[in-house]
Amino acid sequence: MSNIVLIHYGELALKGKNRGEFENKLMENIRKIVGADLIKKIRRFSGRMVLELREDKFLAESPTSEIHTSLVEERLLNVFGISWFAMAEKIDFELKESGFSSGRFGFLQYIQNICNKVIETAKPLAKKKTFKIETVRADKTFPKTSMEMNSLLGEAVGRAYDVKVSLKNPDFTIFVEITREGTYLYTKKVRGPEGLPVGTAGKVLALLSGGIDSPVASWLMMRRGLRVDYLHFHTFLKGFSVRHTKIASLYEILSRYDPDAKLYLASYNEFHSVLRSVPKPYHLILFRRFMVKLAQRLSQKIGARAIVTGDNLSQVASQTMESLAALDCGISVPVYRPLLGFTKEEITERAKNIKTYEASLKPYRDCCSLVSFSPATKPKIELVEKYENEIGMEETVDSILSGIEVF
Ligand code: ATP
Ligand code: MG
Repeated sequence: MSNIVLIHYGELALKGKNRGEFENKLMENIRKIVGADLIKKIRRFSGRMVLELREDKFLAESPTSEIHTSLVEERLLNVFGISWFAMAEKIDFELKESGFSSGRFGFLQYIQNICNKVIETAKPLAKKKTFKIETVRADKTFPKTSMEMNSLLGEAVGRAYDVKVSLKNPDFTIFVEITREGTYLYTKKVRGPEGLPVGTAGKVLALLSGGIDSPVASWLMMRRGLRVDYLHFHTFLKGFSVRHTKIASLYEILSRYDPDAKLYLASYNEFHSVLRSVPKPYHLILFRRFMVKLAQRLSQKIGARAIVTGDNLSQVASQTMESLAALDCGISVPVYRPLLGFTKEEITERAKNIKTYEASLKPYRDCCSLVSFSPATKPKIELVEKYENEIGMEETVDSILSGIEVF
């Protein structure tokens, strides 16, 4: 049973002075998302991280290794910044202090140990026909090249089992990674979610509806290293009623990527009543401007530097170029719309991958259902401003902002 996870992260993003911050944040996020109680140690060296899991914890919880490794795997898939990881076995080099050159005997013994472990690792795979060894020598002081190790270990496995080397299309691969800290063996590389660690790029506030789009937009922004807090407008009298809706489920799913994200709840009712005096085609644009204006004020309070929405060009009446222009008019905080150019199929597929899709499909009485009667597709900004003055938009925003709740 392996209690070691070898983690590789995006090298390209690591250039320059951000490297240290990126790595520290990544370690902190791994600890938070995997769960500090499951981790014995986490270290970084030579552009990789090694996570040592607490065996006692797993043995107490489950005697079968598959269950614990799949739990850790599942959680690591939620850590942005990881390009891939592998459950690995480690072989230590005992004569580390004196180095390879001074102790020839020690070195030969070390290679023998690697060889034995590779043969042991190949055992469950030996029912297959072909294999290959893929060595990476991160420690260039190691006296054998990667190619030499590949053929040496390949021959040993070929002698031990009835399998043949196939470099092009092997049935299984044994990866051997030689580092200054020891040699790691693994047979499966799991692709991570890539991107940048959450919290390395500042904070934004996402307008979270119960739809399919806004959770996906939020996820894409988290993947770029942003801390995303959420703001949801509901039609209940009190925020706690949201607990039993799909908004709580969506928040729970998105929080797996960032357990510290906050959900702010604003009641929409007061705005709905002032809206009555406005002609119906303008309800939707006013409602959307109300959301953005309130989000702008909240952003300033919580230190968010942009607003995120799930808008997608031309999907619905409120997402024509004219509507989007009217929406942003007079708004000073940037509005990020990461889904603008996506097709509905692409958004849906992404929602399924990140597991928000099913929750988004659940029925919910959202604010849009109260305002979307044949909305204007080309709202005039002069009229928008006139109606806003008439209903006292700014005062209503102030009043609702003062009653905002945190989930
Ligand atoms: P979604 O699937 O995200 O709801 P949509 O295609 O249904 O998107 P709209 O309902 O027009 O589009 O909403 C556009 C965007 O406005 C949403 O993506 C979201 O960012 C924001 N939004 C809509 N309703 C709410 C709400 N009740 N609370 C917070 N934000 C909202
Ligand atoms: Mg919607």
